[in-house]
Amino acid sequence: MGGERNISQAPDRGKVFMFRGIRRNPWCLLSLWGMLVLFLGGCSSTVVHNTFTIDELTDDGQEVKIVPQDVITYPGKVTLAQHPWDASSPIQGIKCDDKEIPFYYHQGAVKAYLTDSYFTKLPRHYVCFVTYTFKQQVKTKDLWHVTVHKFKYASERLQVDKKHIVLSPADQQRVALEQKKTAEVYRHGHPGPYFKTPFVRPLPSKITSYYGRKRIFNKGYRSQHLGTDFRAAIGTPIKNVNTGKVMLTDDLFYTGNTVIVDHGLGIFSVYGHLSEIQVEVGDIVLPGDIIGLSGDTGRVSGPHLHWGLKMQGLYTDGLSLVRAGI
Ligand SMILES: [Zn+2]
Repeated sequence: MGGERNISQAPDRGKVFMFRGIRRNPWCLLSLWGMLVLFLGGCSSTVVHNTFTIDELTDDGQEVKIVPQDVITYPGKVTLAQHPWDASSPIQGIKCDDKEIPFYYHQGAVKAYLTDSYFTKLPRHYVCFVTYTFKQQVKTKDLWHVTVHKFKYASERLQVDKKHIVLSPADQQRVALEQKKTAEVYRHGHPGPYFKTPFVRPLPSKITSYYGRKRIFNKGYRSQHLGTDFRAAIGTPIKNVNTGKVMLTDDLFYTGNTVIVDHGLGIFSVYGHLSEIQVEVGDIVLPGDIIGLSGDTGRVSGPHLHWGLKMQGLYTDGLSLVRAGI
């Protein structure tokens, strides 16, 4: 169970821990919340209003030299694209296939997580353009040439309770309401990254179902598993995968007792089927913090942890984000 704690040496760990310790004292909370907003805001506003930064940009009066790079991605997977960017040419935005994507500066480079829908039609090729300013001039250039390659996802058969497949009108209504509620959460993410260290797994245990598996339920109904399942006996402590803010704690039809954490930069993690939730909406959580205990609530065929990752509005393979690093 150990081994993942070492990732919690985020430079802000001490500060954020202080908030957790006193969160039930409303007066401390109010004054410290203001400080927290300033502290986190300070991480994301050093260049221009719509850029996000982990590092500061140096100002050496040089224009950046861009050599467009080829990037290979796969449907449903995360790829970290980067380009050296240590000159004083503040980026206004990066557009991939006409979609604005979040980015950050880190170790002398501009970086962005690229992801395509699991359902992307192949072949697919697109260009990411960067717009930046240098000496009051706005320039747009090719930054990444992206090709999406095929990835073969496996299939599996599952038996689950019939009431979770053929929904009653009441359950249909419930699911629709819950989808509205979670969509609202995903619309209100923090634009810049809360995190400063790579993402980690929520559990070190065996993976019982990988992201992207095609599922055939009770010999008929088909869907895709757009999350990762980890083996977990009821009551196993579940670790938060990176610094973030708890946005939802609720009992949902499919994922049972569920926690959603916003990590900023358009990234959310979802922890499902919990037997117990141990965080509250608004909590700032650090890598390795326990968000709850595993269980078998919601649509399950046995106790396990379902870990989902929502990135830029798409359910994406969380393990590919762990591998991508920062
Ligand atoms: Zn699952």
